[in-house]
Amino acid sequence: MEVRENPQLATCLIKDVVESHRGEREGIHQSDLNYCLLKAFYRKTAAEKKIDEKGELTKELGKAKHILFEHLRGHTYEARTSWNGISGTIDMLGKIPVELKTTRAFPNKNGVNEAYVEQLKTYCVMTGKNRACLIIIHVIPAIIKAYTLKFTNEEINAKAEELIRNRNLLLKAIENNDPRFLPAPRYDWECRYCEYNHICKGGNR
Ligand code: SF4
Repeated sequence: MEVRENPQLATCLIKDVVESHRGEREGIHQSDLNYCLLKAFYRKTAAEKKIDEKGELTKELGKAKHILFEHLRGHTYEARTSWNGISGTIDMLGKIPVELKTTRAFPNKNGVNEAYVEQLKTYCVMTGKNRACLIIIHVIPAIIKAYTLKFTNEEINAKAEELIRNRNLLLKAIENNDPRFLPAPRYDWECRYCEYNHICKGGNR
C-alpha cells in the first residue's frame, strides 16, 4: 500500500469552499455597525479586499455548528431579521434569540467576550426582547457553555440609539465617499485581523 499526501487536492478543496461562500451582503448588516465602521465603508465601496483563505475556511467551518442543534424544536434557524434598515441573521430564534459560537479557546473565567454581548444586545433590539441566549462550543476541550443574557431597558435603548447613529454615519460616509469622520474601531484587535489593513493601515489614526 502507498499513502501519499495530495496537497493540490487540499488546495482545490479550500479554494472551492472559499469561492462558493464568497459574496458581500446587500444593505447594512448589524455586523457593519458593531465593528469598525471604516471597514464597513471599505466593504460597501468595493475596495480591494485581501483574501485570507485560512480565515475564510475557519469561518465556514464555524457555520457547520448548526448541524449539532438541528433537532431542537420551536426554533427558526438562520432567522433573517431587519430593523430600521439594518439586517441581521440570528442563528436560532425561538422565544428569544440564540447565538452559537465555536472557539478553540478554553472558557474565559472573566466572562463572555464583549463582541458577543454587543451582537446579542443588537438582536434583542431587533426582536423587541430583553433576554438572549449565548451558546459557546469550545471545540478542543469539547465543552459547551450556555449563558442567558438579560439587558435593562436603558441598555436596550442605548444600543438602539448607537445602531441608528452608526447606520447614519456609515450611510453619510458612503454617500459622500468620505470616511474621514468615521470613529476608530471599537476593539483594539480589529486592525490586526482586518482584510483592508493593506490599504487602510489602521485608519492612519
Ligand atoms: S485597518 Fe483598522 S481602522 Fe482600518 S478598516 Fe481595518 S479595522 Fe478599521
